[in-house]
Amino acid sequence: MTQHLDQMTVNGKDVPTSDTFGVENPATGQIFAQAPDCSPAQLDDALQAASDAFPLWRADIGARRSALLAAAVRIEESAEGLATLLTLEQGKPLPDARGEVGLTAMFLRGAATLDLPREVIRDDDKERLELLHQPMGVVAAITPWNAPLALAALKFGSALLAGNTVVLKPSPFTPLSSLALGVLLRDVLPPGVLNVISGRDPLGARLAEHPVPRRVSFTGSVATGKRVAAAAGADLKRFTLELGGNDAAIMLDDLDLDVHADGLFWGAFVNCGQVCMAIKRLYVPRSRYTEVVDALADRARSVKVGDGMLPGVQLGPLATAPQFARVQELVADALAGGATAAAGGRRLDGDGYFFAPTILKDLADGVRIVDEEQFGPVLPVIPYDDVEDALARANATQFGLNGSVWSADAERATALAARLECGTSWVNAHAAPAMEAPLVGHKWSGVGTEGGLAGLLPFTETKVMHVVRGR
Ligand code: NAD
Repeated sequence: MTQHLDQMTVNGKDVPTSDTFGVENPATGQIFAQAPDCSPAQLDDALQAASDAFPLWRADIGARRSALLAAAVRIEESAEGLATLLTLEQGKPLPDARGEVGLTAMFLRGAATLDLPREVIRDDDKERLELLHQPMGVVAAITPWNAPLALAALKFGSALLAGNTVVLKPSPFTPLSSLALGVLLRDVLPPGVLNVISGRDPLGARLAEHPVPRRVSFTGSVATGKRVAAAAGADLKRFTLELGGNDAAIMLDDLDLDVHADGLFWGAFVNCGQVCMAIKRLYVPRSRYTEVVDALADRARSVKVGDGMLPGVQLGPLATAPQFARVQELVADALAGGATAAAGGRRLDGDGYFFAPTILKDLADGVRIVDEEQFGPVLPVIPYDDVEDALARANATQFGLNGSVWSADAERATALAARLECGTSWVNAHAAPAMEAPLVGHKWSGVGTEGGLAGLLPFTETKVMHVVRGR
């Protein structure tokens, strides 16, 4: 059964759409809702609404702060409805969806506590020289399907606090929770401040190319990120790109597996592996290889996989049909090349995009699932003899999002982790973001930062105020 759910929000109101597209529940593979397909004229309207709202919104940071805090409260009050939509369209278990809604509110609260710095460089009887950070205008926010609400809030929280207005476009695979968010916030944010539109992929391209936005804040794949950079560059717009990763975790020989096996497992399998900051490959000393593979395979076999709406489910389906096909292709390629599945290795019977949690052994760099971002519930475990060699292999990639080193000796691990070529290095943890720290991608994993003060400043233009006195 399909039902029509939320409308787009433009200038604080519904916009009627004649065209819609189907949204699948990945747990069933069935279309369960229709989402509006934004026309080019409606995109113009949304950007115009954001432009019109900008002068008033930029004027009062106190009002912006209060509005963001009110938005966080409104999201928390509506958490159950948002979480249910998220599970239905994305597949993650309902408790995880509730966690994402909580994070969404937390990102808005975090943004509301930030301040735009004013740096006085010189202030004497001759002159006053000051650096200001001023809003840019309209920001285009484009999000992927793995964590649509939290990633949207990370963008629009900072963008709005800085004084910009926003047009948010979620992935066509998961538009519903973002559309619902737009509806919920209509009477919390002034009209036009946050506009939420939905449509198929060409809408993202039209938004990135459009002359109105002065910054594109994009999270998604490297391939699309390069297109966004080209489109934004042609208009000299600013852009932030939070892109894919192929995070390596390096285990050292002294690790206590009883303490850390769960951390390693969930560092890879969180959100069914569909997290940019999940472990995508694990390097293990050869002397402990069998022990580690067995510990992870035990966990992979015991995890409860199923429809995220059912109680007790720990891992849902892959979120989209193309992602399901890609994971199957990469696992088949590895198995054909001589890898062994210590657990899983196949799709699960029945409807929906379910893949058995998989631990792959007997493989090395050069196999696609080690070299590429799998973004699924599959972890390749690779033995090493020399830790310097493991480090070199961890760094031998165009990706540079995150990495981790696991050891009983935090000092030794920290020294190695500092040499990982990536935006965030953890010791004895992975996929553990800190609220105050920005997300940073090195190499092809990103341009610019999001989150925290370092993520606020990119939503501003730096301005020099130079007042000359006494002439
Ligand atoms: P994607 O690149 O296919 O799509 C992302 C968004 O871009 C969607 O909203 C899509 O509709 C839109 N889009 C498509 N073509 C466009 C174009 N030409 N111009 C502008 N927008 C366009 O990515 P995805 O499959 O939705 O997401 C998975 C990817 O996102 C993975 O690579 C993952 O690692 C990455 N990701 C990165 C982070 C991070 O913070 N670094 C976080 C989450 C996900």
